[in-house]
Amino acid sequence: MPLIIVAGFPTSGKSTRAKQLHTYVSERIKNATPSGATPKYRLHLISDQTLSISRSVYDLSALPAHTRSANASEKDARAAIYGAVKRVLSDRDIVILDGLNYIKGWRYQLFCESKAVRTPSCILQIGCSKEKSREVNEARLSSEAAGAQDARKLGNDTDDVEGAYDPANWENLVFRYEEPNPMTRWDSPLFTLIWEDGEEQTRQVFDTLWEAVAGETRKIVKSNQ
Ligand code: ADP
Repeated sequence: MPLIIVAGFPTSGKSTRAKQLHTYVSERIKNATPSGATPKYRLHLISDQTLSISRSVYDLSALPAHTRSANASEKDARAAIYGAVKRVLSDRDIVILDGLNYIKGWRYQLFCESKAVRTPSCILQIGCSKEKSREVNEARLSSEAAGAQDARKLGNDTDDVEGAYDPANWENLVFRYEEPNPMTRWDSPLFTLIWEDGEEQTRQVFDTLWEAVAGETRKIVKSNQ
């Protein structure tokens, strides 16, 4: 495809699902490659974390209301993400873009970019209630306050290096979130995973997604765009 845009509330489980999808897709690519042959696809995972973009770029609370729409730090971050996607996106590269991706105009821009390189795109929406996502952020805040951050710096917990959002930033991002709408070309096809989805359901969703991006039904997806 191959651009797979992950979208969801902050701390709703996006990176967890993006990593699961990365593992799944790399496995599929490996299985589809005869031994000794060059794989048909290269796989990339791009996120704020891989580009070292801080959570604070989304924080509008420090800005006066009249300058908020010109928030340069978030615009710069988006430009960096856009550049990273554009550099690798092609018909032979599957790109998983793990991020908030909460602005519909931004998703439209990414959709246009994938059309420009004649490759399809899709959305993987992470469904998680506001309450649950807030709880996760609050738990992260408490563990940071308890010194978990220091433990990470010492290398005791390198797996989960993403920090919490400032509570006002978190609330604001949820308020600004523009839910994907599968009736629009740029938000479709739309696949959804919810917090409670277990291994079997997750695999089913990934199977359908793979079919759409790299399988037989891909032709249908392309001709619908
Ligand atoms: P985000 O990328 O949206 O900020 P993360 O993927 O980092 O969210 O997840 C936040 C926390 O919630 C992590 O500690 C992760 O282990 C946990 N988590 C995420 N998704 C699930 C899930 N489906 N079930 C249980 N725990 C989850």
